Amino acid sequence: QKIDRATAKARHGLFGQIASLFATDEPITDELWDDLEALLIQADVGVETTMYLVNRTKDRCNRYGVKRAREARDMLKAEMVRVLQEQERRQPVNANPSIVLVVGVNGAGKTTLIAKLAYRLKNQFGKRVLLAAGDTFRAAATEQLETWAERVGVPVISRGQGADPGAVVYDAIEAVSGGDFDVLIIDTAGRLHAKTNLMLELQKLRNIIRRKFPDAPHEVLLVIDATTGQNGVLQAKSFLKAVDVTDVAVTKLDGTAKGGIAFAIAQDIERPIRYVGTGEKMTDLALFDAETFVESLFA
Ligand code: GDP
Repeated sequence: QKIDRATAKARHGLFGQIASLFATDEPITDELWDDLEALLIQADVGVETTMYLVNRTKDRCNRYGVKRAREARDMLKAEMVRVLQEQERRQPVNANPSIVLVVGVNGAGKTTLIAKLAYRLKNQFGKRVLLAAGDTFRAAATEQLETWAERVGVPVISRGQGADPGAVVYDAIEAVSGGDFDVLIIDTAGRLHAKTNLMLELQKLRNIIRRKFPDAPHEVLLVIDATTGQNGVLQAKSFLKAVDVTDVAVTKLDGTAKGGIAFAIAQDIERPIRYVGTGEKMTDLALFDAETFVESLFA
């Protein structure tokens, strides 16, 4: 299981400590809840979500007369799954071509994720995939996407650094209009602090797409780097105002011993987590599943 590898650090780190808190037949004490609270906060779960989880678990234990730590563990796991599942997955839109817009701050792992998605769609589902190099702002972003595209074996529409991203997307939309492709995945810029307004740019791209495909983009993936913690979630939130984010991809989960960020994302971003990045290779992608994820944290 890829997700097990991705959560190894978290499992051996803070979640391992949480698991051992609940591995005894000792009676439940206030100290247990305090320790749980401290560990969840350290694990990047975020204060609000931590309080929510602790209080709900405590209430449940009281309600069901649970007295021993070991039995409380299942209550905690159930609450964790609930937090992650609160965001209902929409039914995937069955459009052809299907148009996917990928957004997120620089360095979050957008380009790598696009390569992983393209690889999966092409090799597992036999889809004809086209990529669009819509990040014309960051130096080498286009080249990086082209390198990945070559490795995966899919074509990419690009105009190079400094070009109008709208023109790139326009070209890509024209290219998929002919029926030669099943999926178009569009990379976008991730600069948050530059003068030119990124959010306006994203809205323009969306409008260009909609001129030809009024119900597109069919999926807007917000990419969040698990290693950037609460700050990463805060930055990611700014994208919610600009585009209709449909799903979240959490990258670099393998790179953090905290891992609790998934809970903070579910509560703060209010979108379902769909994909998890489990490494740097194009095969290092897992579909997110709440129960499997929580199990892997406690395994
Ligand atoms: P972008 O600026 O958002 O396009 O980010 P990139 O795709 O260039 O990724 C930034 C860095 O993160 C690169 O060094 C990637 O190899 C690395 N990276 C991306 N996804 C993952 C992941 O799931 N796990 C790990 N360990 N590294 C990743």
